[in-house]
Amino acid sequence: MHNHTQDISPDLSQDSSPIVEKALQGFPTHLCIELERVIGGGGIVPADLVQHICKELDSDTESLMLRLIPLAAAYAEAPVSGYYVGAVVRGQRQNANGYAALYLGANMEFPQRALCHSLHAEQAAVANAWKNREPDITSIAVSAPPCGHCRQFLYELYGPNSLKVIFPDGTEGNCRETSITELLPGAFGPADLGHKGGMMAVNTTPSPLELEFGAIDALILKALEAASYSYAPYTKNYAGCALLMHDGSIFSGSYAENAAHNPGLSPLHAALSNMRMACDPRTTAGNLHKIVRCVLVETAADISQRELVATLLSSIAPNLVPEYYPSRAIDGATDPLDRFE
Ligand SMILES: [Zn+2]
Repeated sequence: MHNHTQDISPDLSQDSSPIVEKALQGFPTHLCIELERVIGGGGIVPADLVQHICKELDSDTESLMLRLIPLAAAYAEAPVSGYYVGAVVRGQRQNANGYAALYLGANMEFPQRALCHSLHAEQAAVANAWKNREPDITSIAVSAPPCGHCRQFLYELYGPNSLKVIFPDGTEGNCRETSITELLPGAFGPADLGHKGGMMAVNTTPSPLELEFGAIDALILKALEAASYSYAPYTKNYAGCALLMHDGSIFSGSYAENAAHNPGLSPLHAALSNMRMACDPRTTAGNLHKIVRCVLVETAADISQRELVATLLSSIAPNLVPEYYPSRAIDGATDPLDRFE
């Protein structure tokens, strides 16, 4: 049991604007100016800024992660439940002084679609670290105990090795520090299917892919790149999504498979979350409706992301038809995931 004195309960108000302001109230004014770089900057706290804030607050990284949870929760889009969840993960890469970057994530819900389309905050934070090519995460802090779905999702990262998980224990100011193996005893995981897991290892060993057909533009290339960083050891359905926004900005996401199938992360969910985290939640509400193109690149397999992408996209951009480009392994290239088998 750890005693962290700061209030880490997310504000459940429907208006996200005061949530950002309230989250910043937990920090001295001069650090709020620094944290503005994080808001609208991808929800990333670079390692050097983590070091600076920890020194200023006389805090360790995990205490800072807990303090940042309300800021992460400010990005949540929860029109179905009204329940705002924030998560903060710590990347594996370290600066010269041993500090690692932190990545924020929040839940997203999609009206008029089945609840199975909901994105959980833990997945969003992992997708953020993934997009920034972290080879792994070393700990995660969440505003509530991770649900069973997220425990299974996080188990894919580490398998039987331990990932530190921190969340409020329900009493004032106290947190529980535990591990994914303690939260998911007797787990079914990658090893049961003959794999070692290590979902984010694809960031150091992407799958070399090329398009079946030569049609190329920047958005398609971004989706192809995202597909090459996807984790699909069970089906080889390497898939990536890229979104073009009305202002010309591009966001992408990679598919992440799960040994238990359902807790995986679709490439469109990952791309939408990365888009959400790149926008200041105080000023960009409704950005979901400003997508002008959506590209899916995937390698043919016994499964496909195509139907899911069309269904989910139609809930946020009803008039937009997703573009589809098949990909394949580059001739002669070794599938890096085979090394994990
Ligand atoms: Zn969850």
